[in-house]
Amino acid sequence: QALLYIVATPIGNLADMVPRAVEVLQCADLVAAEDTRHSQRLFSHFNIDTPLMAYHDHSDDKRTGQILQRLEQGQTVALISDAGTPLISDPGYRLVREARERGFRVVPIPGPCAFVAALSAAGLPSDRFSFEGFLPAKPGQRERALRELAGDTRTLVFYEAPHRVADTLDAMGLVFGGEREAVIAREVSKAFETFHLAPLKELAEWVRADSNQQRGEIVLLVRGAERRRDSELNPEAERIMKLLLAELP
Ligand code: SAM
Repeated sequence: QALLYIVATPIGNLADMVPRAVEVLQCADLVAAEDTRHSQRLFSHFNIDTPLMAYHDHSDDKRTGQILQRLEQGQTVALISDAGTPLISDPGYRLVREARERGFRVVPIPGPCAFVAALSAAGLPSDRFSFEGFLPAKPGQRERALRELAGDTRTLVFYEAPHRVADTLDAMGLVFGGEREAVIAREVSKAFETFHLAPLKELAEWVRADSNQQRGEIVLLVRGAERRRDSELNPEAERIMKLLLAELP
């Protein structure tokens, strides 16, 4: 039966590979991977010799078409990315969408995901959060994106490149206020794993003072804005709110 598996792989520690992922990758007819050379290392470690094919989001429709064709022939295809869960700031959306539209079964093999691991251990509220992925690289666009999030009361979660982390923390401090709590989660599951929680201003200084903190892979988490109390509503909003409340059954 044709199946498209979406398989999570480790984010730095090979021991985090789940047994079901190994089994699925060994038994698939084809594995679509972001970077086939990178995935070859994972394959050798787990004795997987399934053929690999390159697949990126900017892959032309031909690649997607080739994978869909394999499914049409009744084959089993697995999608992996360089690390973690495919489709989470990684390629795959178009393929999953098209496979589903054609009626194929799409089955996830759950496993590592950098932002989930970071959020689970950061010490910031995790009941409600917004995963924002990568901010725009250009300062103007980055600031605009941050401004849109300034009033959000949910914990904000970002991926960031190491060479941008100090500037991004500065920009966050300006837009959200230097007192807002944030966490840098670096090299999660690897030898130099580091979690550091501090107000944004302090966190930016801490990162700038130690160049090691500007290396490796990074998740940034920012506490949400303080929830505004009703008494802080402006008088007009409060008047309308009272009128509306009176109408409630
Ligand atoms: N699909 C992946 C996942 O499930 O997390 C994310 C892919 S995204 C292209 C890569 C980014 O994820 C890195 O730039 C970094 O922000 C974050 N990341 C990946 N591995 C990480 C790790 N071990 N520790 C901290 N952040 C990590």
